[in-house]
Amino acid sequence: MTGGARHARAEPFPRAASAALANVQLRRNVRAATASIRVKRAAVVAELPDWEELRAAGAAIKDDALARLDELLLELEGSVRRAGGVVHWARDAAEANGIVTALVLAEGAREVVKVKSLTTDEIRLNDALEAAGVRPIETDFAELIVQLAGERPSHLLVPAIHKNRREIRDLFRERLGLPALSDDPAELAEAARLHLREAFLRSRVAISGANFACADTGTVCVVESEGNGRMCTTLPEVLITVMGIEKTIPRFRDLEVFLQLLPRSSTGERMNPYTSLWSGVRDGDGPRAFHLVLLDAGRTRALADPAGRPALRCIRCSACVNVCPVYRQTGGHAYHSPYAGPIGAILAPQLDGESEAAGSLPFASSLCGACYDVCPVKIDIPSILVHERARVVARGRAGLEGLSMRRLGRIFASRASYERAQRLARTLQRPVARGGWIGRFPPGPLAAWGRARDLPSVPAQTFREWWESRARS
Ligand code: SF4
Repeated sequence: MTGGARHARAEPFPRAASAALANVQLRRNVRAATASIRVKRAAVVAELPDWEELRAAGAAIKDDALARLDELLLELEGSVRRAGGVVHWARDAAEANGIVTALVLAEGAREVVKVKSLTTDEIRLNDALEAAGVRPIETDFAELIVQLAGERPSHLLVPAIHKNRREIRDLFRERLGLPALSDDPAELAEAARLHLREAFLRSRVAISGANFACADTGTVCVVESEGNGRMCTTLPEVLITVMGIEKTIPRFRDLEVFLQLLPRSSTGERMNPYTSLWSGVRDGDGPRAFHLVLLDAGRTRALADPAGRPALRCIRCSACVNVCPVYRQTGGHAYHSPYAGPIGAILAPQLDGESEAAGSLPFASSLCGACYDVCPVKIDIPSILVHERARVVARGRAGLEGLSMRRLGRIFASRASYERAQRLARTLQRPVARGGWIGRFPPGPLAAWGRARDLPSVPAQTFREWWESRARS
């Protein structure tokens, strides 16, 4: 399969996660990779004495941008136009896919090279291109692996984090027709490079994402590690960038702050190897046409919610993903969104709050707070998780758990019903209570809940009963 990823039907997180938990190899791969990035990140962050000031500056710039996004987007549009680019506005995924597909077909292209675009994963652009007879070729090494495997990305930064070297070698042997390939990382990278070089030379249209876009100059910025982004943004004749509107920052000089925060938080490097910056087009240098597609797709709705809005500060560094104890066990596929981990648990429901799968994500967290500690733009993810949980409950989507909690609330609200419940529980627990503990749960939803928990049994006498009997005697 050479095309876009196959997307399984989205199921609620607990169901999807239980399948991932059964995959021991996947959990081992994810744990090993996230542990190594965590150690590197901690070391390079500790080198900067002004890290906290940088975080505060990053958060303030993003907050300022979000507060006047309407005005900055118009400024960005004007700057890009003056620099020779064309700006398109897309209300949702369908509109964005339609715009990009029409641009590609208008060039007569049947193949495009793509780089660095979580946003195009979000809108499932590859599926739309394939439906229009255009072959998308992912050029980021990890994205290419995921595409060749017919899977979805499972990490913001390392989309193939769930695969180890042996699995990648087997995939390349089969899909690239290289039976003698070893699992040496340099050999694997070389195989991908040779495969992609042909595509770079052939393709006339490239599609990229954007890390930032500066409203004052119209400059778009992409940071990456392999240089394939640079090839995409310079070699083809036409460059199409698809960008969520929240990537807009006010000034070119704001990049100074983010280019310190991003590489250290994401790959644990002092500086990423390649930073590509371009403003419109220039005769004889780079693409002859540049299109910027500005995507809303739920972002203005998120912007309108003061409690959820800080999620739009996210610079997609993935530091929160790497420290998340839930993500470490399940990997990214269980989130059914390209935004996995803690940021996915708050962003996906905001962008796509209607589906049952998205509604289950705010509960995919232990609320330990590790994500908040590492976030370079100080997003208080735990508070937003709680806010999103409250919205799910308010929509009546909490299911059996919500019903049980409402029932428990009523029992706890009245002493008489609480004592009645205690007496009933004492009778009902008899077949399963042993030595002060509920050993096993009866079949049904409680059985799954009880498999991972120890629950003390209701004592034979409550304190109040003991006190009254003592007074009587
Ligand atoms: S929420 Fe913060 S830590 Fe997580 S990806 Fe976004 S910027 Fe990075």
